[in-house]
Amino acid sequence: MKICTLSSGSKGNCTYVESGSSAVLIDQGLSLRELEKRAAGVGLDLTKVRMIAVTHEHTDHIKGVQAFCDKYGVKAFISPLSAANACLKYTVISRETSVPFDGGISAGDMYLTPFRVHHDAAYTVGYQVEDGHKTLCIATDLGYVTAGAGKRMSKADAVILESNHDKDMLENGKYPYPLKVRIAGKNGHLSNDDAAYTAVKLVQAGVKRVILAHLSQDNNTPQTAYNTVMSAMTAAHIRQGKDVKLDIAYQFEPSLLTEII
Ligand SMILES: [Zn+2]
Ligand SMILES: [Zn+2]
Repeated sequence: MKICTLSSGSKGNCTYVESGSSAVLIDQGLSLRELEKRAAGVGLDLTKVRMIAVTHEHTDHIKGVQAFCDKYGVKAFISPLSAANACLKYTVISRETSVPFDGGISAGDMYLTPFRVHHDAAYTVGYQVEDGHKTLCIATDLGYVTAGAGKRMSKADAVILESNHDKDMLENGKYPYPLKVRIAGKNGHLSNDDAAYTAVKLVQAGVKRVILAHLSQDNNTPQTAYNTVMSAMTAAHIRQGKDVKLDIAYQFEPSLLTEII
């Protein structure tokens, strides 16, 4: 299984996951043009994509879903409640394009299982992606890690995990107070400290790769997120490069397409 984070953060999210001759996108919050530009830059073949798995109906996750589905002839796998919002309320994704889920689904050589996370959309999920060899979990918009989500992620080889904000930067930053409360709340976003605590537990359970994602442009920096998680790992005697590979998913730069090992 290979993964490429094409974009991550409140200005657009899209992750490409490939196994054999097929691929899926988790969310598509970029314009089609920008997605194609980034994909071409790292050598992805978007004609391999069999479906888009949507985590929830916030714009940064679905803005480009319909345009992609129209051009590439694929459907969007989405929760019934998010579909109701995305299709009926905002008409961002047509009814014909959406496949409201009732459990997991196959996509080429992969099997995708949604799992519930707590966030302030109609319904939000993370995804477990399996291809019989490796397992990836992605959870990028969540206020806290429930026991169920933690258990699911702990069985993966690689996890894309939200590390949204530094608590001090959020508290002392320019956001209006209600927005600060929303972000820090149980239906908001994971802080670097939350990510660090979770990442240590995941690596201790056997996860070999952690990619920190959905970093805030205003209340975080890649270095701050990385350092916070790394120092928690070091304190737990986890060695970067040996016990875990720790990476960052960026907003404006795609990652390389890398194999999960
Ligand atoms: Zn988001
Ligand atoms: Zn969201």
